[in-house]
Amino acid sequence: MRKVAIYGKGGIGKSTTTQNTVAGLAEMKKNVMVVGCDPKADSTRLLLGGMSQNTVLDTLREEGEDVELEDVCIPGYGNATCVESGGPEPGVGCAGRGIITSINLLEQLGAYKDDKELDYVFYDVLGDVVCGGFAMPIREGKAQEIYIVVSGEMMAMYAANNICKGIVKYADAGGVRLGGLICNSRNVDNEEPMIAELARRLGTRMIHFVPRDNQVQRAEINRKTVIDFSPDHPQAEEYRTLARKIDENDNFIVPTPLPIEELEQLLIEYGIAN
Ligand code: ADP
Ligand code: MG
Repeated sequence: MRKVAIYGKGGIGKSTTTQNTVAGLAEMKKNVMVVGCDPKADSTRLLLGGMSQNTVLDTLREEGEDVELEDVCIPGYGNATCVESGGPEPGVGCAGRGIITSINLLEQLGAYKDDKELDYVFYDVLGDVVCGGFAMPIREGKAQEIYIVVSGEMMAMYAANNICKGIVKYADAGGVRLGGLICNSRNVDNEEPMIAELARRLGTRMIHFVPRDNQVQRAEINRKTVIDFSPDHPQAEEYRTLARKIDENDNFIVPTPLPIEELEQLLIEYGIAN
């Protein structure tokens, strides 16, 4: 089983990209589980047709220790298993801790057991790794393989670089590696070559360039992934390509984060700051 985590700045497209990739892997007959690690609990709605799901932390609070796997693991599109960690009560406790509680519970209940024959588990993780809490899936060795969703916007690149610093920090202890950057386009000038160059300098690759397309919104309004909503649309093909590239990836590295000056220089070189 490959344990994959998707990181990136808030709003960059982690949940959308994750669910569409999972739909692509499901079409390839892969057995996949998605664990939403965002207190918003919106990591699985496109796979579940908009159904809102009991989160692991809510279920724990309501049912005490008697939680059963069936209470928190719901089958979605292509038989992908969908889980939402949820969050602590607002203002109380660390959300990152909540994620670990929920992953530990899944382990205890046997969600990852051999008989489930899972090919992949995807952790869709909120935001920036700078907060210790959200680094936990990396720190505690829960995820082995990281993909960072990024665009050509400066703050997204800045976050990607920071996430790389987090990976470096825990690479020795937990064995975590970077599998690549996923560029989710914001139609910034020279975006594709710039992100390819950022990836190169980080020691990795831009595994795929996902175009910005309103079909994503059309599918979203219908509570579906693009692959489910419009399997013949070119954007569906982009996500299938991304799924295939992840499935075939064998490039896993410890990244080399850039000094901030070099990051800014990259933006200048590619014409954004002009
Ligand atoms: P995150 O999980 O990183 O916070 P989301 O996946 O929720 O971000 O994406 C934020 C919004 O961006 C979504 O409403 C989605 O419709 C939109 N979006 C994501 N990727 C694309 C894309 N390739 N083209 C058009 N819209 C996109
Ligand atoms: Mg999200």
